[in-house]
Amino acid sequence: MEYTNLGKSGLQISRLSLGSWLTFGKQIGDDVAERLMDIAYDNGINFFDNAEVYAHGKSEEVMGAILKKKNWSRDSYIVSSKVFFGAGGQLPTQKGLSRKHIFEACEQALKRFQLDYVDLFLCHRPDKQTPIEETVWSMHQLIMQGKILYWGTSEWSAQEIMEAHMFAKQNHLIGPIVEQPEYNMFTRHKVEVEFSQIYKTVGLGTTIWSPLASGILSGKYNDAFPTDTRLGMDGLDWLKEKNLTAERISVVKKLNDLAASIDLSLPVLSLAWCLKNPNVSTVILGASKEYQLTENLKSMEAKEKLSTEIMEQIEEILGNKPIHPAH
Ligand code: NDP
Repeated sequence: MEYTNLGKSGLQISRLSLGSWLTFGKQIGDDVAERLMDIAYDNGINFFDNAEVYAHGKSEEVMGAILKKKNWSRDSYIVSSKVFFGAGGQLPTQKGLSRKHIFEACEQALKRFQLDYVDLFLCHRPDKQTPIEETVWSMHQLIMQGKILYWGTSEWSAQEIMEAHMFAKQNHLIGPIVEQPEYNMFTRHKVEVEFSQIYKTVGLGTTIWSPLASGILSGKYNDAFPTDTRLGMDGLDWLKEKNLTAERISVVKKLNDLAASIDLSLPVLSLAWCLKNPNVSTVILGASKEYQLTENLKSMEAKEKLSTEIMEQIEEILGNKPIHPAH
């Protein structure tokens, strides 16, 4: 495993990490969740990603119970939570980025995890109804109270991230160190273009999500619709519509041939492609089965096989290189 600083912070994060969206507390049993965390930890993964909204808080409970059972030294792993969507409550005070919800969401996450602090606390989306000043102050105060160590954002625009930074700087508060954007071979603009300046200026780190576009980039949807997969789950039609398009499948088939030509599986090639981007601090893996995680871990070594020539061939197949305004 390789480790890198998360943005400009001193936090050393593993370049592969493990997430729990749709799996922990929902699609998979707690025994499978435990095996996944075991495999991850034994292979040097030190970051486990979570959020208040995942399985309405159950994902944090499951992960917390496993951490407690394992009794891994608290200084050997990083755990995150995210605030914005709430943990199921529908009242106006139970969501968003107000000081009230941020404080309560943090307290509740700590209880569910059975932890004294979380390492990373992310604003899961921007909140247009709360002044950014209130959110920055609330995060700073949580750090001062020792309940969180670092904070960041998810799916914020470069402008929103910069506003938070500038307010923090002017007021000697601690600003965000990380953004969690979607990034995979089909979704590239934010990571490759929009944030390109702020990697350099404020030193933004990224923990990227859905590196396999919810499994499409594993190639398993190429021929027929398999059973027992995420995109067949009840209530996820929107995710299926977003990811499973004929256009994408035709691209995935070509990528599959390229992967085979260099003796890699398609998921490994797709993940290694994300790792090749130096602005990606960590690729958050999702897995519903042990064999998937074991396979996906091979991407760390496989990135050496992605030569300039192979990267160019991938680019040609994808045909979606985002245009940088400066070019
Ligand atoms: P992926 O796009 O990698 O999708 C993971 C899913 O793909 C698995 O659960 C599995 O689903 C399938 N899969 C994975 N590996 C393989 C394989 N080798 N062969 C076949 N199928 C495979 O990542 P996620 O969408 O899960 O995102 C990763 C993490 O990012 C999340 O767990 C969460 O922590 C975070 N996230 C954050 C978001 C945010 O807004 N900040 C939004 C979404 C995710 P199955 O077996 O069911 O088909």
